[in-house]
Amino acid sequence: MKWINHLAIAGATTAIINPMLVPIALLGSTAPDWLEPVIKATTGNDVKHRGVTHYVVVWAAALAFALLLWDFHGLLAAFCWGGLTHVLADSMTVTGVPFSPNSDRRFHLFGGRLRTGESGEYAVAWGIVAICAVGMQLVHTSGNWYPFFYDWPGLYEQGIIDGKEWKDNRFRFF
Ligand SMILES: [Zn+2]
Repeated sequence: MKWINHLAIAGATTAIINPMLVPIALLGSTAPDWLEPVIKATTGNDVKHRGVTHYVVVWAAALAFALLLWDFHGLLAAFCWGGLTHVLADSMTVTGVPFSPNSDRRFHLFGGRLRTGESGEYAVAWGIVAICAVGMQLVHTSGNWYPFFYDWPGLYEQGIIDGKEWKDNRFRFF
């Protein structure tokens, strides 16, 4: 799938949750592709396109880790979310993506019928953007409400909540 569409999907979905994290999500949304030459350059190993950097379970596990165990201002979660949207979007294409390191089977979403560069992938990406635009409207009309990623550490640093509140809430993500 084209980068423009990966960027659109990750940017729009992240904007609903926290607009501040959009740049990080954009970085993550292209990571499965730009990590390939990076890994190749640093390890010298030949990296197959849509191989190790495109494992669905790895991105999903990393996102779960960021949400449940450790994160820094939601940055890791945003990055992993971007990566996950990338591999899920790629899984809608004919080539698909590998599901996990333990299986050679390609993983496909919605039948994997899209072809990279054709109109279908634009339709999917911009359809998601349109849905998110509506979602943004809903979020805006209901005030300062972020459904996920409530920034407790950020509030603590700004002195809005005290240490106890932060401790009580730091594992509350929803
Ligand atoms: Zn890719």
